[in-house]
Amino acid sequence: MDFISPTEIKRIASKYGFVFKKGLGQNFLSSQSVLEDIAMASEIENEGVIEIGPGFGVLTNELAKRAKKVVALEIDDRLIPVLADTLGEYDNVKVINQDVLKTDMKKLIDDEFDGEKVSVAANLPYYITTPIITALIEGDLPLKNLVVMVQKEVADRIIATPGTKNYGAISVLCQYYTDPELVCTVGANMFVPPPKVDSAVVKMAFRNTPAVSIKDEKMFFKTVKAAFSQRRKTLLNCLVSNFTHTKAELTELMESVGIEPTRRGETLSLEEFARLSDIL
Ligand code: SAM
Repeated sequence: MDFISPTEIKRIASKYGFVFKKGLGQNFLSSQSVLEDIAMASEIENEGVIEIGPGFGVLTNELAKRAKKVVALEIDDRLIPVLADTLGEYDNVKVINQDVLKTDMKKLIDDEFDGEKVSVAANLPYYITTPIITALIEGDLPLKNLVVMVQKEVADRIIATPGTKNYGAISVLCQYYTDPELVCTVGANMFVPPPKVDSAVVKMAFRNTPAVSIKDEKMFFKTVKAAFSQRRKTLLNCLVSNFTHTKAELTELMESVGIEPTRRGETLSLEEFARLSDIL
């Protein structure tokens, strides 16, 4: 495929009579340098990669140049003949006409990559950003890097540090399993058609072991969820509403691990969440 620009995306759309569907998050990337940034950040040289939502195949093209094998999941059947054409030169690309949310990722990685570690790269359809990221991160899958284009505000939440307004349950979830970093921010004019929001690419490198060691993951995430359940309340009051312990018991438990009950949930580091959930 040639150098990608807004003109090139519009040319492909007009060639195939393709009409963009807003409901499927079809904002196609038209910046060659951002496509290369995503492919490079994925670190897939001679390895396997899964792409979610290939669209016209502009990112798939950059992935296919580098990876051993690309498996791309596309829900829109109108794009399947287009992709057969735009990616025709590659014999290391497999396009599957399937909804990512209905895909058994473990089975896909077993079947297509012999269960070996793969990365996931995508310019995500924004209407399902959180369910996709959550399913991939919590799925206990053999993943190396997750490099995704998301709304800028989602990227801000993924990389947020304790005590900042963007820090929340998704920050803890992502940072527990991965080491997230911002790759680049991308203006709305880099897409055809332009979305209403600015975007950013984040790279989440999966950790070999989670960021903190805890006794019980279920309890850890229950504690995190409770802590962020009512942002204006103190951590103690959030816990009282979500656990069966009395206020006095919770106060004592929190103090025993050096966490002031009057603090707000969003000020706790992963390590403090770990200490707290271990005694609950
Ligand atoms: N990768 C292309 C690019 O960068 O130009 C297209 C990205 S566009 C933001 C999102 C793509 O995801 C579209 O091709 C859309 O049809 C596809 N898509 C939307 N929902 C999907 C789903 N549930 N499963 C798989 N693909 C989906």
